[in-house]
Amino acid sequence: MTFRKLGIIDPILEALKAEGYENPTPIQEQAIPILLEGKDLLGCAQTGTGKTAAFTIPILQQLTAEKNRKVSAGSPRALIVTPTRELAIQIGESFSTYGKFTNITNTVIFGGVKQGNQTRILQEGVDVLVATPGRLLDLMNQGYVSLRNVGWSVLDEADRMLDMGFIHDVRKIIAKLPPKRQSLFFSATMPPEIVELSKKILGNPARVTIQPEMTTAEKVKQSICFAEKADKPALLTHVLRENHDKATLVFTRTKHGADKITRFLKKAGITSNAIHGNKSQTARQIALENIKKGYTKVLIATDIAARGIDIDDLQLVINYDLPNIAETYVHRIGRTGRAGADGQAISFCDKEERAYLKDIQKLIKQTIPEAKIQYTREITNKESSASQEESRTPRNFRETLPSKINHRKKTGKPGKIPDHLQSRLAVKKTENKELNSKGEVISPRRIIRLKKN
Ligand code: AMP
Repeated sequence: MTFRKLGIIDPILEALKAEGYENPTPIQEQAIPILLEGKDLLGCAQTGTGKTAAFTIPILQQLTAEKNRKVSAGSPRALIVTPTRELAIQIGESFSTYGKFTNITNTVIFGGVKQGNQTRILQEGVDVLVATPGRLLDLMNQGYVSLRNVGWSVLDEADRMLDMGFIHDVRKIIAKLPPKRQSLFFSATMPPEIVELSKKILGNPARVTIQPEMTTAEKVKQSICFAEKADKPALLTHVLRENHDKATLVFTRTKHGADKITRFLKKAGITSNAIHGNKSQTARQIALENIKKGYTKVLIATDIAARGIDIDDLQLVINYDLPNIAETYVHRIGRTGRAGADGQAISFCDKEERAYLKDIQKLIKQTIPEAKIQYTREITNKESSASQEESRTPRNFRETLPSKINHRKKTGKPGKIPDHLQSRLAVKKTENKELNSKGEVISPRRIIRLKKN
């Protein structure tokens, strides 16, 4: 979706482009067409969703379209009431920014400062007034502001108004608004008093609800599974087998990691597709279609590739690696548990990732319960080669081998394999040209694989 497709006029489009906004956010996409039609709106959304632009843009556009618009002293055409001085300033800045190529004027009034400058500007006349409730009521009572010309009213962060004890002031302000106007009402939560207030303000409103990411985090059943890095392939294989009937998205930090996972899963008999930046658009689309239609159950993705992916009925998210940015965790697990459905997220955490886990728990204000998953660390041919792939560098390759074999490799002499290992080990010479973790070609080497009993 683009702002142009939403019907935004050129002067505002130009300002949005200058701001670097490429696409509307979900609340903008939903609210702007409703507001441009002149309907009342009840928006369940909080700061951070792009809600300010969602109401600022259509108000600017409608004001610009008004014929014979005139500004009269102390009598604005649009009124925005918001609980704090900071929010008021931000909203005023939004009107100035998005309206910089229009001739719409605005001013901001709030308490805690002298009123002289504010009343002077009000007397000059402005199209848009942004105000905190106390100062607005005060200046109304002193006769500096009249609401009789208000054609657009916005009540922003209504639940915070209630918490901060402004609700009586708000009621008094509403009582002075003319009946013929477009009304917008925003609140992150909807306690009974707020529902009652919204009914007083709004006619027959359209409703837009944007789920904040945090709510998503609370809805998803999360668990953490501590594991050594080298055990993650076996753990993943186990979890996927246990959940073979669930559409599952596995996240990795790197493109390389995503490909490795598909390879070891293939060896373990689990079909999966990977999507990441190195895959063609067609390959990505096929991978998405496969999981959406249920042809494959497992999709491996990097964070960037997964952006914007919307798979209905995605039941499980697995964090094969924990993200180093806590917000990314919330975005990842938000892929499941959509639209009220049950969702589950299992995260694997190795020693090096403990610090990331701490940051995540701090952000979501929850301790993620630990899942004690009983998985077999019995190494099969398939899983062994997979875990070797994971950790294959000349150094730790040797470390995964029994010490006697290490010695054999160092001396290059064909030493004796201990009796107790004879039945389990097979030594195989393999010419191989695989890449190490740095992407360098590993010289042909002797590969020792563990053999199934
Ligand atoms: P708000 O929820 O209104 O406080 O907005 C949150 C942040 O998102 C602000 O910093 C806005 O400048 C920014 N923002 C709003 N709309 C967009 C958009 N369409 N694209 C990118 N950033 C945006």
